[in-house]
Amino acid sequence: MIKENVMQVHAHIAAACARCGREPSEVTLIAVSKTKPLSMIEECIAAGERIFGENYVQELTEKYAQCNADVTWHMIGHLQRNKVKYIIDKTALIHSVDSLRLAAQIESEAAKKGLTVDILLEVNIAGEESKWGFSAAEAPDAVARIAADCPHVRVRGFMTSAPYTETPESNRKHFRRLHALFTSIQEAPPKAADGNPVCFDTLSMGMTGDYEVAIEEGATMVRVGTGIFGERSYP
Ligand SMILES: *Cc1c(COP(=O)(O)O)cnc(C)c1O
Repeated sequence: MIKENVMQVHAHIAAACARCGREPSEVTLIAVSKTKPLSMIEECIAAGERIFGENYVQELTEKYAQCNADVTWHMIGHLQRNKVKYIIDKTALIHSVDSLRLAAQIESEAAKKGLTVDILLEVNIAGEESKWGFSAAEAPDAVARIAADCPHVRVRGFMTSAPYTETPESNRKHFRRLHALFTSIQEAPPKAADGNPVCFDTLSMGMTGDYEVAIEEGATMVRVGTGIFGERSYP
C-alpha cells in the first residue's frame, strides 16, 4: 500500500509540474513519518524514498538510532531551544525555525560541535493565531539578521503550513504570497557572516491536502504524510 501511495504522490507531483512548466526534479518529496513505526518507514525506503520528516525530537532521535538505511531526517515540527542539542547532528534540514532566539541556539550548538546547519524560517503566511512562525512582515529582516549573526547556520529558505482546508485552491493565495517573498529575497539576498550573499533556494510548502497547488506556486519541497502512510492516530 505504501509503495502504491508513493508512486501516486510522484505521479501527482509530475502532473503538477507539467501544468506549470516545471521539472519534477525541482521538487523534493519529504515523507512525513511522524507517529508511524519503523516498519512503515522501511516500506517507504523500499519504495525509493530517502528523506523523512519528523515533528518530535524524541521520535526523531529514536528512529535515527534504529534505522540503518542511508536516509536523511528533516525536523519539521516546533522545536524547543533546550532540545536543539539532541537533533542538531541528526538532521539534514530544520524547517521550523520560528524565532531569532531559536536560531541563536542552533548557532551556539552548531559552533560547539563544529557543524554548519541548514535551516528554513517558518512563516505564518496566513496569520493564523494558532500557528508558530514569523509574520510575512518580519521574515525578511529575520533572514538578514540570522545570516549576519550566525556563521554556523545557513538560512536556505522559507517553510509554511497553510491553513487546513478541504479545498486546496483556497490556499493558492498563501503559497503565491510566500513565493513572492521568497523571490524577493533571492533577488536581493542579504550577506552572510562570511560576506557572501545567502544561498536562498528552498521553499517548503504543501502537505497531503494541497501539495499540488503548492508546486504550481513554486514549492521546491513538499511534505506529505497522510498521502503516503495513511491517517495518523494519536494515543
Ligand atoms: C504532519 C505534518 C505534515 C504532513 O501532513 P499531512 O497532511 O499528513 O501530509 C507536513 N508538515 C508539517 C509541519 C506537519 O506537522
